[in-house]
Amino acid sequence: MTEAARDIRATAARTVYLDHGATSWPKPQPVVQAVREAVEFYGGNPGRGAYELALATARLIHDARRTCAALLGVRDPSDLAFVSGATEALNIALKGLLAPGDRVVACSMEHNAVVRPLNVLAAQGVDVVWVDADSTGLMDADEVEAAVRRAPTRAVVCQHASNVTGTIQPVGDLADVAHASGAWMIVDGAQAAGHLDIDVAALGADVYAVSGHKGLLGPQGVGLLCLSEACEPRDLVQGGTGGGASELPTQPTARPDRYEAGTPNTPGIAGAGAAAAFVAEHGHAQHGLERELVARLHEGVLALPGFRVLGSPPREPRVPVLSVVHERVDADQLAFLLDKRYGIAARAGLHCAPAAHRTLGTLATGALRFGIGWGNTAEHVDLAVQALAEAAG
Ligand code: PLP
Repeated sequence: MTEAARDIRATAARTVYLDHGATSWPKPQPVVQAVREAVEFYGGNPGRGAYELALATARLIHDARRTCAALLGVRDPSDLAFVSGATEALNIALKGLLAPGDRVVACSMEHNAVVRPLNVLAAQGVDVVWVDADSTGLMDADEVEAAVRRAPTRAVVCQHASNVTGTIQPVGDLADVAHASGAWMIVDGAQAAGHLDIDVAALGADVYAVSGHKGLLGPQGVGLLCLSEACEPRDLVQGGTGGGASELPTQPTARPDRYEAGTPNTPGIAGAGAAAAFVAEHGHAQHGLERELVARLHEGVLALPGFRVLGSPPREPRVPVLSVVHERVDADQLAFLLDKRYGIAARAGLHCAPAAHRTLGTLATGALRFGIGWGNTAEHVDLAVQALAEAAG
């Protein structure tokens, strides 16, 4: 082991990790093992060779695709493309479906993975209409419907769950609104996948963007682009796709190859497949535990003087992220003290979602966000509450 690895191992051992909203850690052992085996043994380049090692790697990716599709309710695994993250999936969806002159209705709680591509498109002549969430971060389907009906609309885009408040948005209702006007429904599922039971087809999402490394428990650098049968974004990147299509001068239109130009991230995909299998087996029990732990943290924080929690009251539906604000001590200072004194990892600031903080009235202060997930216990939560009390005391 290198000296750097020894150091980080010691840091990891004393960390109470409460930043699952940013990325999940530690990963379940089957995920670690799948990544290691992919690097160690799956030497061939999938789809680029007919020798056994390349075929085995192609089979590994095929199996991972099937497992991920089954977990998310994607009926045909070819409708699921492996990409680098939710960010890339959302860029493909937005830039591949919208063109100058189009109109898109978006929600005010969006992450920069939606806001920034939409700002680029707005500069190119796409009409972007933002609909405000309420003060708890929840979107109202009637308000979205009113905005959609005002003028011909190409797409509605909304997160499934907020990375700031944990709010679960009514994306099924929004899909009905979109489809009634002939618009696509694009869902940012980065904070929902792995934390909620998801059936992409039943939700009516035309695009469902997944981050592989958050609630799904896979490694960083992998994400999933899930498409409905009818939805065909333009490909943003062109290149080799292996297989029998090499003679084509242009990108093949068959899925998933269209969206997977270049050598795939085999270790990441192997990890995502193992993670999806793990979530399929343990997700149900884990979701119950996460709900309990986030409610315990919520109630604990509300009992402390000077603190408030963004979003809905305790025990209302939310994914397990919880952002807190103190009336006097700023979020950066709280995060610093929690880390230095208690080894607690939690994230202060705007969480790459200034639009959400603007909606909630916390753009100037930001907040301290806790993200609960795999491996967390009641002891972790109780330590966080105690640490907040002492840091603000
Ligand atoms: N959308 C939301 C709501 C997120 O919280 C994040 C990550 O924090 C993303 C999109 C982007 O995900 P990724 O970094 O995996 O591309």
